[in-house]
Amino acid sequence: MPKTIISSYPEDDSRLPKDDGVILEVSELFTDTVQGEGINIGHPATFLRLQNCTLDCVWCDTSEVWRYGNPYSVNELLNLLLEHDVVTKLRYGQHLVLTGGSPLNQQTALVSFITEFERRFSFIPIIEIENECTRMPLNRLVPFISYWNNSPKLSSSGNSLTARYRPNILRYLSTLTNSWFKFVITSEQDWFEIETNFLRPELISVNQIILMPQGQTKAELELSRLKTVELAIKYGVRFTDRLHIALWDKKTGI
Ligand code: SF4
Repeated sequence: MPKTIISSYPEDDSRLPKDDGVILEVSELFTDTVQGEGINIGHPATFLRLQNCTLDCVWCDTSEVWRYGNPYSVNELLNLLLEHDVVTKLRYGQHLVLTGGSPLNQQTALVSFITEFERRFSFIPIIEIENECTRMPLNRLVPFISYWNNSPKLSSSGNSLTARYRPNILRYLSTLTNSWFKFVITSEQDWFEIETNFLRPELISVNQIILMPQGQTKAELELSRLKTVELAIKYGVRFTDRLHIALWDKKTGI
Protein backbone atom coordinates (compact mmCIF):
# COMPACT_ATOMS: atom_id res chain seq x y z
CA MET A 1 0.00 0.00 0.00
CA PRO A 2 1.11 3.61 -0.55
CA LYS A 3 3.03 5.10 2.37
CA THR A 4 2.43 8.65 3.66
CA ILE A 5 5.54 10.53 4.77
CA ILE A 6 4.04 14.03 5.20
CA SER A 7 0.40 14.95 5.57
CA SER A 8 -0.32 18.61 6.33
CA TYR A 9 -4.03 18.23 6.95
CA PRO A 10 -4.94 19.90 9.22
CA GLU A 11 -2.41 22.69 8.82
CA ASP A 12 -0.05 23.27 11.73
CA ASP A 13 0.42 27.04 12.18
CA SER A 14 3.10 26.46 14.77
CA ARG A 15 5.33 24.26 12.62
CA LEU A 16 8.74 25.73 11.91
CA PRO A 17 11.28 24.28 9.49
CA LYS A 18 14.26 22.70 11.22
CA ASP A 19 16.80 24.93 9.46
CA ASP A 20 17.09 28.25 7.63
CA GLY A 21 17.29 26.84 4.12
CA VAL A 22 14.94 27.33 1.19
CA ILE A 23 11.35 26.49 2.14
CA LEU A 24 8.64 24.58 0.29
CA GLU A 25 5.04 24.71 1.48
CA VAL A 26 4.11 21.04 1.40
CA SER A 27 0.63 19.54 1.51
CA GLU A 28 1.72 15.92 1.41
CA LEU A 29 4.50 13.54 0.47
CA PHE A 30 3.74 9.90 -0.22
CA THR A 31 5.52 7.01 -1.84
CA ASP A 32 5.15 3.39 -2.98
CA THR A 33 2.32 4.25 -5.30
CA VAL A 34 1.77 4.53 -9.06
CA GLN A 35 1.14 7.45 -11.38
CA GLY A 36 -2.62 7.40 -11.74
CA GLU A 37 -3.10 9.47 -14.89
CA GLY A 38 -1.56 10.52 -18.14
CA ILE A 39 1.26 9.28 -20.29
CA ASN A 40 2.98 7.41 -17.43
CA ILE A 41 -0.10 5.82 -15.92
CA GLY A 42 0.86 2.82 -13.81
CA HIS A 43 4.51 3.80 -13.38
CA PRO A 44 5.88 3.49 -9.81
CA ALA A 45 6.01 6.94 -8.25
CA THR A 46 6.53 9.16 -5.24
CA PHE A 47 4.35 12.28 -5.05
CA LEU A 48 5.35 15.63 -3.56
CA ARG A 49 2.21 17.76 -3.38
CA LEU A 50 2.72 21.50 -2.86
CA GLN A 51 0.28 23.90 -1.28
CA ASN A 52 -2.04 26.27 -3.16
CA CYS A 53 -3.23 26.54 -6.72
CA THR A 54 -3.71 29.34 -9.23
CA LEU A 55 -7.16 27.95 -10.15
CA ASP A 56 -10.20 26.64 -8.31
CA CYS A 57 -11.87 23.97 -10.44
CA VAL A 58 -15.40 22.95 -9.48
CA TRP A 59 -14.51 19.26 -9.75
CA CYS A 60 -11.04 19.40 -8.21
CA ASP A 61 -10.45 16.17 -6.29
CA THR A 62 -7.48 17.44 -4.26
CA SER A 63 -8.63 20.88 -3.11
CA GLU A 64 -9.23 19.57 0.40
CA VAL A 65 -5.53 18.72 0.49
CA TRP A 66 -3.69 21.48 -1.38
CA ARG A 67 -5.43 24.23 0.61
CA TYR A 68 -3.32 23.09 3.55
CA GLY A 69 0.42 23.04 3.87
CA ASN A 70 3.29 23.24 6.28
CA PRO A 71 6.74 24.70 5.66
CA TYR A 72 9.59 22.24 5.11
CA SER A 73 13.15 23.16 4.27
CA VAL A 74 14.84 21.54 1.31
CA ASN A 75 17.20 19.71 3.68
CA GLU A 76 14.33 18.32 5.74
CA LEU A 77 12.64 17.01 2.60
CA LEU A 78 15.82 15.40 1.33
CA ASN A 79 16.43 13.80 4.74
CA LEU A 80 12.90 12.37 4.70
CA LEU A 81 13.41 10.95 1.21
CA LEU A 82 16.61 9.30 2.41
CA GLU A 83 15.13 7.96 5.67
CA HIS A 84 12.16 6.41 3.88
CA ASP A 85 14.36 4.74 1.27
CA VAL A 86 12.85 6.85 -1.51
CA VAL A 87 16.23 7.99 -2.84
CA THR A 88 17.18 4.39 -3.68
CA LYS A 89 13.88 3.83 -5.46
CA LEU A 90 14.28 7.04 -7.44
CA ARG A 91 17.80 5.97 -8.38
CA TYR A 92 16.38 2.77 -9.85
CA GLY A 93 13.74 4.54 -11.93
CA GLN A 94 10.75 5.35 -9.76
CA HIS A 95 9.36 8.72 -10.87
CA LEU A 96 9.17 11.77 -8.62
CA VAL A 97 5.89 13.54 -9.39
CA LEU A 98 5.72 17.21 -8.43
CA THR A 99 2.08 18.05 -8.05
CA GLY A 100 -0.32 20.43 -6.34
CA GLY A 101 -2.17 22.60 -6.38
CA SER A 102 0.28 24.41 -8.53
CA PRO A 103 3.93 23.32 -8.32
CA LEU A 104 5.05 26.15 -10.60
CA ASN A 105 3.85 28.60 -7.92
CA GLN A 106 6.93 27.46 -5.95
CA GLN A 107 9.28 26.87 -8.86
CA THR A 108 12.19 28.93 -7.55
CA ALA A 109 12.27 26.77 -4.43
CA LEU A 110 11.83 23.65 -6.59
CA VAL A 111 14.96 24.53 -8.54
CA SER A 112 16.85 24.69 -5.21
CA PHE A 113 15.31 21.39 -4.13
CA ILE A 114 16.37 19.55 -7.29
CA THR A 115 19.81 21.20 -7.38
CA GLU A 116 20.44 20.18 -3.78
CA PHE A 117 19.09 16.68 -4.47
CA GLU A 118 21.69 16.28 -7.23
CA ARG A 119 24.47 17.68 -5.07
CA ARG A 120 23.73 15.30 -2.20
CA PHE A 121 22.86 12.12 -4.11
CA SER A 122 24.79 12.60 -7.38
CA PHE A 123 21.86 12.00 -9.71
CA ILE A 124 18.65 13.68 -10.82
CA PRO A 125 15.52 11.51 -10.60
CA ILE A 126 13.03 11.17 -13.43
CA ILE A 127 10.74 14.07 -12.59
CA GLU A 128 7.19 14.59 -13.79
CA ILE A 129 5.47 17.90 -13.12
CA GLU A 130 1.72 18.50 -13.08
CA ASN A 131 0.92 21.89 -14.51
CA GLU A 132 -2.30 23.85 -14.95
CA CYS A 133 -0.55 26.08 -17.57
CA THR A 134 -1.02 29.46 -15.91
CA ARG A 135 2.63 30.11 -14.96
CA MET A 136 5.55 30.34 -17.38
CA PRO A 137 8.23 27.84 -16.32
CA LEU A 138 11.63 29.24 -15.34
CA ASN A 139 14.42 28.47 -17.79
CA ARG A 140 16.39 27.05 -14.86
CA LEU A 141 13.66 24.52 -14.08
CA VAL A 142 13.02 23.18 -17.59
CA PRO A 143 16.16 20.98 -17.96
CA PHE A 144 15.30 19.11 -14.74
CA ILE A 145 11.83 17.99 -15.89
CA SER A 146 11.46 14.73 -17.81
CA TYR A 147 7.68 14.87 -18.34
CA TRP A 148 5.36 17.87 -18.53
CA ASN A 149 1.89 16.71 -17.51
CA ASN A 150 0.09 19.86 -18.60
CA SER A 151 -3.57 20.09 -17.80
CA PRO A 152 -5.11 23.30 -19.15
CA LYS A 153 -8.61 23.84 -17.91
CA LEU A 154 -11.73 24.34 -20.03
CA SER A 155 -14.90 26.33 -19.26
CA SER A 156 -16.38 23.24 -17.56
CA SER A 157 -13.85 23.78 -14.76
CA GLY A 158 -15.72 26.90 -13.61
CA ASN A 159 -12.64 29.14 -13.85
CA SER A 160 -12.80 32.38 -15.85
CA LEU A 161 -11.13 32.44 -19.27
CA THR A 162 -8.72 35.09 -18.03
CA ALA A 163 -7.59 32.92 -15.15
CA ARG A 164 -7.18 29.64 -17.03
CA TYR A 165 -6.24 30.42 -20.65
CA ARG A 166 -2.70 31.71 -21.39
CA PRO A 167 -1.92 31.19 -25.10
CA ASN A 168 1.75 32.24 -24.87
CA ILE A 169 2.39 29.76 -22.05
CA LEU A 170 0.59 26.94 -23.90
CA ARG A 171 2.57 27.61 -27.08
CA TYR A 172 5.84 27.49 -25.17
CA LEU A 173 4.94 24.32 -23.24
CA SER A 174 4.05 22.52 -26.46
CA THR A 175 7.66 22.96 -27.66
CA LEU A 176 9.13 21.08 -24.68
CA THR A 177 10.19 17.44 -24.83
CA ASN A 178 7.67 14.99 -23.37
CA SER A 179 5.04 17.67 -23.07
CA TRP A 180 1.48 16.35 -22.91
CA PHE A 181 -1.86 18.12 -22.62
CA LYS A 182 -4.42 16.27 -20.55
CA PHE A 183 -7.97 17.59 -20.73
CA VAL A 184 -10.71 16.69 -18.28
CA ILE A 185 -13.77 15.69 -20.29
CA THR A 186 -17.35 16.18 -19.14
CA SER A 187 -19.07 16.16 -22.58
CA GLU A 188 -18.34 16.46 -26.32
CA GLN A 189 -18.63 20.22 -25.93
CA ASP A 190 -15.23 20.09 -24.25
CA TRP A 191 -13.70 18.67 -27.43
CA PHE A 192 -15.15 21.54 -29.50
CA GLU A 193 -13.54 23.97 -27.06
CA ILE A 194 -10.17 22.18 -27.44
CA GLU A 195 -10.47 22.53 -31.23
CA THR A 196 -11.41 26.22 -31.06
CA ASN A 197 -9.03 27.47 -28.39
CA PHE A 198 -6.06 25.11 -28.66
CA LEU A 199 -5.82 23.37 -32.04
CA ARG A 200 -7.03 25.99 -34.51
CA PRO A 201 -4.70 28.70 -33.11
CA GLU A 202 -1.93 26.02 -33.26
CA LEU A 203 -1.00 26.41 -29.60
CA ILE A 204 -0.55 22.66 -29.14
CA SER A 205 -0.39 19.64 -31.41
CA VAL A 206 -3.14 17.02 -31.66
CA ASN A 207 -0.68 14.22 -30.90
CA GLN A 208 0.06 15.81 -27.51
CA ILE A 209 -3.59 15.54 -26.40
CA ILE A 210 -4.82 13.07 -23.79
CA LEU A 211 -8.50 12.94 -22.82
CA MET A 212 -9.36 12.02 -19.24
CA PRO A 213 -12.84 11.42 -17.82
CA GLN A 214 -14.11 13.72 -15.08
CA GLY A 215 -14.80 11.70 -11.95
CA GLN A 216 -13.97 12.55 -8.36
CA THR A 217 -15.27 9.20 -7.16
CA LYS A 218 -15.23 5.65 -8.46
CA ALA A 219 -18.98 5.87 -9.16
CA GLU A 220 -18.64 9.09 -11.18
CA LEU A 221 -15.73 7.63 -13.10
CA GLU A 222 -17.73 4.54 -14.03
CA LEU A 223 -20.32 6.83 -15.63
CA SER A 224 -17.90 9.02 -17.59
CA ARG A 225 -15.16 6.60 -18.67
CA LEU A 226 -16.81 4.98 -21.69
CA LYS A 227 -17.99 8.21 -23.32
CA THR A 228 -14.49 9.68 -22.94
CA VAL A 229 -12.90 6.60 -24.56
CA GLU A 230 -15.39 6.95 -27.42
CA LEU A 231 -14.49 10.62 -27.91
CA ALA A 232 -10.76 9.79 -27.88
CA ILE A 233 -11.32 7.16 -30.59
CA LYS A 234 -13.58 9.47 -32.61
CA TYR A 235 -11.03 12.31 -32.67
CA GLY A 236 -7.89 10.15 -32.86
CA VAL A 237 -6.23 11.14 -29.58
CA ARG A 238 -5.07 9.29 -26.45
CA PHE A 239 -7.23 8.35 -23.50
CA THR A 240 -6.17 8.06 -19.89
CA ASP A 241 -8.05 6.51 -17.02
CA ARG A 242 -7.82 7.79 -13.44
CA LEU A 243 -6.24 4.73 -11.90
CA HIS A 244 -6.01 6.03 -8.32
CA ILE A 245 -9.75 6.81 -8.30
CA ALA A 246 -10.61 3.46 -9.91
CA LEU A 247 -8.50 1.61 -7.33
CA TRP A 248 -8.90 3.62 -4.14
CA ASP A 249 -11.88 5.91 -4.74
CA LYS A 250 -11.75 9.46 -3.32
CA LYS A 251 -8.90 9.06 -0.92
CA THR A 252 -5.76 11.15 -0.53
CA GLY A 253 -2.17 10.07 0.13
CA ILE A 254 -2.22 7.53 -2.69
S1 SF4 B 1 -5.80 23.21 -11.47
FE1 SF4 B 1 -5.76 21.11 -10.68
S2 SF4 B 1 -5.21 21.30 -8.50
FE2 SF4 B 1 -5.83 23.35 -9.24
S3 SF4 B 1 -8.01 23.49 -8.69
FE3 SF4 B 1 -7.87 22.74 -10.83
S4 SF4 B 1 -7.91 20.49 -10.68
FE4 SF4 B 1 -7.44 21.31 -8.62
